[in-house]
Amino acid sequence: MIYIGSHISASKGYEAMGKQALKLGANTFAFFTRNPRGGKAKEIDEADVARFLALAEEHSFGKLVAHAPYTMNACAAREDIRKFAKETMADDLMRMEYTPGNYYNFHPGSHVGQGTQAGIDLIAALLNEVLKPDQTTTVLLETMAGKGSEVGRNFEELRAVLDRVECKEKMGVCLDTCHVWDAGYDIVNNLDSVVEEFDAVIGLDRLKAIHMNDSMNPLSSHKDRHEKIGKGQIGLAAMERIICHPKLQGRPIILETPNDDAGWAEEIALLRGFSEK
Ligand code: FE
Ligand code: FE
Ligand code: ZN
Repeated sequence: MIYIGSHISASKGYEAMGKQALKLGANTFAFFTRNPRGGKAKEIDEADVARFLALAEEHSFGKLVAHAPYTMNACAAREDIRKFAKETMADDLMRMEYTPGNYYNFHPGSHVGQGTQAGIDLIAALLNEVLKPDQTTTVLLETMAGKGSEVGRNFEELRAVLDRVECKEKMGVCLDTCHVWDAGYDIVNNLDSVVEEFDAVIGLDRLKAIHMNDSMNPLSSHKDRHEKIGKGQIGLAAMERIICHPKLQGRPIILETPNDDAGWAEEIALLRGFSEK
């Protein structure tokens, strides 16, 4: 069974997202918990959530992979920006409990010159304030391309954050194929050793979701420019090997490719086909 989907607009509510996912041939999806640039989240409509939960169960959806606003910076140098990140994540996690047991993915942050170690400490400190032992949501750190001063540009940095979090069982990692490629992990020629390295440094039990994107740029470019599946430097053959890799099975796969609905439907069908071969 493969769980695959794309990002879907949250503007019309949960049931609308579920229906849109079905239209694309998806059985999971990602959505921004609020405007990706931040701002106030929409009021939760419990009847809408209930209709969505019924639909997701009826169609055997996999776990959803919600995405925090990408402006959120848990390791900013300015205290007011960190406070905003903390309040945003706390509010998002409270809202996530309306759809229990899913994933909440966020970009660890940019240390903006404070240094990687300071960044790691600030991210873990924020998580330790926000995570609740009774929450049902698992929070995912996303692997990053290493653009600017991003924390999470290698597996060791993510491991260092995880090591400092108290509620470890509420944490996981989302592997973004474009980001790890841009960060220097050669998933085209050495997928097996990248998977082994992930397992050795972080542990594959911590790998909860995959963002599947091709990259416009070469290995180690640290750029983070997504490309359509098979149209970039990673290529379709490598995508097929990722989909079929025995150690990567069972995780929800989310497309963040520059596409319209028809493009996503096509990519979902294409990748689903690989898994059914
Ligand atoms: Fe992301
Ligand atoms: Fe991503
Ligand atoms: Zn990206």
